[in-house]
Amino acid sequence: MAIIKVQKQLFGTNGVRGIAGKDMTPELALNIGKALGTMRPGKIAVGRDTRTTGPVLINALKAGLLATGCDVIDCGILPTPALQYIVKEHYDCGAMITASHNPPEYNGVKIIEPDGTEMGDEEIILLEDLLSDKTVPFKSWDLVGTEVSAPHLVDEYIHAIASRFPEKPGKGMTVVVDPGSGPACHTTPAILQALGCRVITINGVMDGTFPGRLPEPSPEGLKGLAALVLANNAAFGVAHDGDADRAVFVDNNGVFVEENQEFALFAQYICQNATGTIVTPVSTSLLIEMIAETAGCTVTYTPVGSIYVARKMRELIETGNTVIFGGEGNGGLIFPDHQFCRDGGMTAATLVLLLATSDKSFSSLLSALPQRRMIKEKIKTPYGLQLIEQLNKKYAQESVDHTDGLKLKRNRTWALIRASGTEPLVRVMVDAEDSKTGLALFEEIENSVSEILKKISH
Ligand code: MG
Repeated sequence: MAIIKVQKQLFGTNGVRGIAGKDMTPELALNIGKALGTMRPGKIAVGRDTRTTGPVLINALKAGLLATGCDVIDCGILPTPALQYIVKEHYDCGAMITASHNPPEYNGVKIIEPDGTEMGDEEIILLEDLLSDKTVPFKSWDLVGTEVSAPHLVDEYIHAIASRFPEKPGKGMTVVVDPGSGPACHTTPAILQALGCRVITINGVMDGTFPGRLPEPSPEGLKGLAALVLANNAAFGVAHDGDADRAVFVDNNGVFVEENQEFALFAQYICQNATGTIVTPVSTSLLIEMIAETAGCTVTYTPVGSIYVARKMRELIETGNTVIFGGEGNGGLIFPDHQFCRDGGMTAATLVLLLATSDKSFSSLLSALPQRRMIKEKIKTPYGLQLIEQLNKKYAQESVDHTDGLKLKRNRTWALIRASGTEPLVRVMVDAEDSKTGLALFEEIENSVSEILKKISH
């Protein structure tokens, strides 16, 4: 798969992001609206998460879209996957004002294609070219677009998920939801209630100051969720990031579930009922491959980023392959029968059915999975690309993969070294069967990196 990430100037793997008012300004939102309206004229659905700067940016974005003659459907506050579903079902394009898991001062834009996927690299480059084009015309009074408010459309998303499941699989099950004061306050509890669950919420009131916890669902931030799970004897607790495309869990013992384990458990469940390919980035634990192998399924790897996973899934299906599941080891799971994007609400709903059809608790299912150890570190350096070039030479005789950065594979242990596209740093990940093996490979990589960096900087 060709990666042209380096050519993108503003957009990262999941849209434009920055500190609101500093990098992510109303002017930029206006220009994105004008560029998008020029590139994808038609009916465009927009929405936002709960951030305090959302109204500022969405109004600027809408002004740009209307000025270029687009009709705007404002879906209000809703999860990104809900807007993706709405666009896929009804509209020509979409734009979501969100900074996903970033802290409250951030905001950004994700562009959604007619099929509900996030806009790919090639189209983003065209969009960025239009951003700097000062000649984009402002339509005359009789050709500017119209705007309608459509906050009710989010109900279609809730219904679309709930109707995929058998009648009330969650009957008798208590679950705790932590939407983190984000847009899933109005969706995930409703979906789980429709499945028959008794739902308790924490951080369940929309609030862009995020008084309960930060938009990134970390083990530290989910202590309140864990306590409620234990106090209520709940089957699980679920938490979302700031735009609810990801879902992470605490088990029935209140223990945070590592996201690769989450992905593996879902994969195991899906492989019970279907055979085919699972698509995931090269950064996902080998655990997923072990689960797939046992079930007679295969794994296809992509560069890091959910957009690459979603597009690979579509590409494989279009060429006659059976793709049963996709996702990342960060709680971003893609259910291809539903839609080709990460969906936190769908993920939570699927766990209800998974547990309802098992005679074991969430924690016992998790502890039955093979155990792996993952190490993740960042190394600060402005020489990321040169460093990887030198590492490629050093490890040329070994089993390596260049899907994204450098992945060094030794038996059932691997290391991944990637240069960040937006910051002066490289990310190092090691995935191993045990801590000792993992640490040994990590230290080896660390030493190679410092040796090479010494040479480069002299
Ligand atoms: Mg997100």
